[in-house]
Amino acid sequence: MTAFHCALALVAGRFVPGVRIETEDGAITGIDQGTHAQAGDVQLTTVVPGFVNAHSHAFHRLLRGRTHDDGGDFWQWRTRMYAEAGALTPDGYRDLATRVFTEMRDAGYTSVAEFHYVHHRPDGTPYPAHDMEIALADAAASAGIRLLLLDTVYLRGGVGAPLAEEQRRFGDGDVHGWLARWHALRDALAGHPLTELGAAVHSVRAVEPTDLAAVAAGLPAEVPLHVHVSEQPAENEQCLAAHGVTPTQLLAAHGLVTERLSAVHATHLTDLDIQLLGAAGATIVMCPTTEADLGDGIGPAPELLAAGARLAIGSDQNAVIDPWEETARLELDQRLRLQRRGVFSPAQLWRAGSATDGFRVGDAFDAVEVDTGSTRTWGADVHQLPLVARSGDVTATIVAGRMTRPQER
Ligand SMILES: [Zn+2]
Repeated sequence: MTAFHCALALVAGRFVPGVRIETEDGAITGIDQGTHAQAGDVQLTTVVPGFVNAHSHAFHRLLRGRTHDDGGDFWQWRTRMYAEAGALTPDGYRDLATRVFTEMRDAGYTSVAEFHYVHHRPDGTPYPAHDMEIALADAAASAGIRLLLLDTVYLRGGVGAPLAEEQRRFGDGDVHGWLARWHALRDALAGHPLTELGAAVHSVRAVEPTDLAAVAAGLPAEVPLHVHVSEQPAENEQCLAAHGVTPTQLLAAHGLVTERLSAVHATHLTDLDIQLLGAAGATIVMCPTTEADLGDGIGPAPELLAAGARLAIGSDQNAVIDPWEETARLELDQRLRLQRRGVFSPAQLWRAGSATDGFRVGDAFDAVEVDTGSTRTWGADVHQLPLVARSGDVTATIVAGRMTRPQER
């Protein structure tokens, strides 16, 4: 048993002084409030649940600070991104992802959903033993971050088009080939305790409609499923032209809009799309720094929340890795869009960041210690830290009960 004494900790939506958290094998077994530290306790200051990074492409980090003089649009940026994808090797991917995941951990993310599609050699032939996927699991283990590996089905280069040359290493022939590899991969990851296998459909551009139903039927019901949805108007236009409905409606027609769905971006939605996602209780992954960087637009986050959807944050292209900046932008983007303040309550921002209202018995002890007396945070109401703190204010991160201090910055 390891016990952590927190001078201040977030429990059931409020900050409570003197919280002693007992853990066993990294899980919370007891929470005492208003109490003193005992001999042998790990002593911490202000502690909140770890942030959940619900959308990442680790290798996009290679483009940070290198595309700002390109101008252009999302599609031009994508050409640069494909060049980086084409050059990845398993060893290079492991090293790169270790650095990226370490930056995440130090910023306060305790888990990352890696949306992974660089599966095969550049010519499309498989590696012998899931080499790229194992490289990511190894990187998460090295960095000490929880990994939800979202192995992604990516079969088409656009609506009705085969994969382009630079996309060949993403593909698996057909949806049954992808499903077979997915199930084999689950067995191969058994020795990685911090890694869980989830699934993703790259987008409605990347599969045929019949593939969507095969994905829904072929995956175990408990497996999380993520999809890029309506990030760009062009995706909606192509989907409407080919199928007569929006991407969200196409997903719904094939049984994918359920509580297990995480819709990534959801920037350009119709009222019906919002109703479908909300009624299903789906999660919407907003990636504010990426959506700003790529000029995507500002999605209808408050409307989705009001309709019944849950909100989450993602670092996506990793041009910025800072969960506090994502939560702040989640609110500030809506202020610009709606021309009013206080769109989300602080409690809603904490929940979007960490998928919880505070520490609970039975959960893994994944936590962040934050400096409330830094040059940025002094004087702030702790409930409002998602608007004012930044990654540099993180003084420790704890994943499954194991604590690390940020590396030299
Ligand atoms: Zn993405």
